[in-house]
Amino acid sequence: MSMTNDEKHKAMSPFSPYSITGFLSKSLFKPNSQSYPLLLRTMSINSHAFAGNPIRSRTPKPSEPFSPQSALQTLKSLLLSQTHEPISPDFKVLPFRKGRPLAGSTTEGLKWHLGWLSLGECKAYLENSEVGLSDDSLVYLGWNHSEDVVYWAIDVSDASGLVNELGAKGFCFVELRTLMVATDWADSKAMGELAIAGHARALLEWHDTARFCGYCGAKTVPMEAGKRKQCSNELCKKRIYPRVDPVVIMLVIDKENDRALLSRQSRFVPRMWSCLAGFIEPGESLEEAVRRETWEEAGIEVGEVVYHSSQPWPVGPSSMPCQLMVGFFAYAKSLEINVDKVELEDAKWHNREDVKKALTSAEYRKAQKTAAAKVEQMCKGVEKGQNLSSDFNVESGELAPMFVPGPFAIAHHLISSWANPNASLSNL
Ligand SMILES: [Zn+2]
Repeated sequence: MSMTNDEKHKAMSPFSPYSITGFLSKSLFKPNSQSYPLLLRTMSINSHAFAGNPIRSRTPKPSEPFSPQSALQTLKSLLLSQTHEPISPDFKVLPFRKGRPLAGSTTEGLKWHLGWLSLGECKAYLENSEVGLSDDSLVYLGWNHSEDVVYWAIDVSDASGLVNELGAKGFCFVELRTLMVATDWADSKAMGELAIAGHARALLEWHDTARFCGYCGAKTVPMEAGKRKQCSNELCKKRIYPRVDPVVIMLVIDKENDRALLSRQSRFVPRMWSCLAGFIEPGESLEEAVRRETWEEAGIEVGEVVYHSSQPWPVGPSSMPCQLMVGFFAYAKSLEINVDKVELEDAKWHNREDVKKALTSAEYRKAQKTAAAKVEQMCKGVEKGQNLSSDFNVESGELAPMFVPGPFAIAHHLISSWANPNASLSNL
């Protein structure tokens, strides 16, 4: 499979018109070698979990009624007035509590959905609470032209009475990781809701951690409907933007393209193996980060580095509102593994057949259905506990000796792309 230089340039460009499917299937090749097969064919999903947010495909111009600026003006006048007249565009609000979005669930098909409230409902719920409904507390999320709706998020962590009040209506604040596992990855509407919730959580977490100016220590105030913040000190006025923490994640492959390096961290659930990953350091290119991390963690020297795809990851450590996982194939120049026991529990080369067995789709489907049933129970008020560690636990009657992260994680797609270069993920 070969591409002209022009095609390569187009496929690699961040402004490429190719969808992720097209991008991945067209751009992944082993440069300078005709003997290497195409590493990826097609993916049955259009984008990774948390990407492909349907309400932020573009930012409207300030003069448009859906823009953050116009919506904020409408919001201000609505909050001041007592009108109950229908407005255009309509507003919908997603409440969050301690990083968890409000969700409901339908018994039929066990599908969760986000707990959107109208502005009026939100006002009524918050009337006697500690949380003031104001243009400073609402954060702009995006818009949908065909529905004539602007979407907002609000942090209601301080309104403790809401849990029972909303619980009585069949709603529950659910951990985003639980929703992530519970999402049917073939259901594009559900994947869209997950992306919206991820974006909203990342923004609200950032608002919570960026309350003070890092330069002068004065309070910060939200600007542009919560899209950024600014220092309130007139002498400083520092502009502060939402934080993204880039991470490289790589599947290290041997020279013959026969074996892949998978590793275990002690925090992983038993039997789970995954790709190597690490934070990018200041002054470092992505390729350099891939080579440095692989050397530091596994003692393997990497030569060629080939980009695969990227995934927003708003479910990492709470100090990082949103990580950006940047995925690569990394071709090893050496084979001998020297594991850094501080970073990893173990790292091993695995042949393609063993890796294929680790991609046990029935187990992922089972985990997804179990998580979906759990969300439904929580929304019914039956299940109170939210045991996070169990959410990743893939359980099956027939235990595979090892498994890799589920289809919600970029690691899964890096690994499955390599293990099944000719297969579509639709059979997952
Ligand atoms: Zn300041």
